[in-house]
Amino acid sequence: MNKQNSGNTKPAKFINTNLKQRTLILLKPDAVKRGITGEIIDRFEQTGLKIVGAKLIKADRGVAQKHYKKDAAWHKKVGEYNLKDCEDLDVDPMEIFGTTDPTEIGSQVNEWLFSMFDEGPVFAFVFEGPNAVKKVRTLVGSTYPDAAPPGTIRGDYGLDSAVMSMQKKRALLNLIHASGTVEEAQEEISIWFSSEELLDYRRADEDVYHY
Ligand code: GDP
Repeated sequence: MNKQNSGNTKPAKFINTNLKQRTLILLKPDAVKRGITGEIIDRFEQTGLKIVGAKLIKADRGVAQKHYKKDAAWHKKVGEYNLKDCEDLDVDPMEIFGTTDPTEIGSQVNEWLFSMFDEGPVFAFVFEGPNAVKKVRTLVGSTYPDAAPPGTIRGDYGLDSAVMSMQKKRALLNLIHASGTVEEAQEEISIWFSSEELLDYRRADEDVYHY
């Protein structure tokens, strides 16, 4: 019998050894202030992923700096992206950033990210389950809500763009942070939660799937 996958999507690995993968989700101040946290959490819960930690927290600058400690490569990438937007809009980057150096521009955007946490509390979660990191990132969608397709959370609930955030000199309002890799998840979870705050229990789905 032909066991090849007939669809276009890549099949999941047959033996999944990552059943207890954990990921950090932050519902950012814009999501909390808009009162849509329940709807967003619903989307993650509906997949079968399990909440193992949750808290509403006003992050101080120290936590913000640990969480969004971006490297020079990120600064350069984001700076170049913003410079391209300036060019497309025929806006002088000197007027907004006072520089044309992409790394310096990215570093300013990084500062805007720290300030985002001054705007209000975040609702922090740890979700657990098979392939939790990738599953959550797929649901969340593109960093830029104006480019995120319908069906993704940023696409369904957001409309901000790099251009809007640049003009207002603030972080992009894209509702959610979700860990990008398993290693990043481990590091980020330890910034926001102590091990005592992460609870072990069984969800009904685990009995259905026998894991
Ligand atoms: P994410 O993993 O999708 O959140 O994307 P990144 O880790 O690359 O960026 C972290 C956060 O920085 C994003 O969620 C945005 O809030 C913000 N951000 C990223 N790119 C830009 C940008 O070009 N302009 C502004 N203002 N904020 C940005």
